[in-house]
Amino acid sequence: MSIVLQPLKCSSCAAPLKSKERDRMLICEHCGSTSLFADGKTSPVEFAIVKPTVEEKDSLWYVPFWVVNTDVIVHHERISGGGISRAVTGQKQMRGVRDFYICAADEIPEEYARVWNMELTINQPEFTTIPEFKNGGRMVMTMDKETAKNNAEFIFLRYEAEIPGTLLELDYDFIVKSTKVLYLPAYKTTNNYQLGI
Ligand SMILES: [Zn+2]
Repeated sequence: MSIVLQPLKCSSCAAPLKSKERDRMLICEHCGSTSLFADGKTSPVEFAIVKPTVEEKDSLWYVPFWVVNTDVIVHHERISGGGISRAVTGQKQMRGVRDFYICAADEIPEEYARVWNMELTINQPEFTTIPEFKNGGRMVMTMDKETAKNNAEFIFLRYEAEIPGTLLELDYDFIVKSTKVLYLPAYKTTNNYQLGI
């Protein structure tokens, strides 16, 4: 249990910040800039808001994702049981320079977050961004950056382990080049979430 003793300050203008609902993204009422809250401190954070491309009547939420840009280098792999590497079969690779998408809102049920993370990371979509949270709410971001980096590496390992056969050996480097926050539009119905991209 830790208690924040020092008042939080905007990382841009040093005005006091109010935190609410465990949100790690704190918007300054004074200058409008956004700070990331972690380890009792605030720091500048890069973020963008993605334009919804799907029109729905249901309630719109902007869901925070950590986008972890990485260079994944596999030096050596060994597969038993007649398994064939994706590099040989021409299937989509989760290697090289790419973005890993990690849903950072614990309000999103695990079963949705897991599927979104995998699909977005495999497909590497391109987005149009908008300057503000239009017609929807900003969902609380609960996940810190280090957890997101660990989850990104876990997604890579899970994908590598899914090839037919047994992965006996995987010698790799997982280099994180940068991180940012991306808010993706999603529509919420009674017990369902649908990405609006
Ligand atoms: Zn400020």
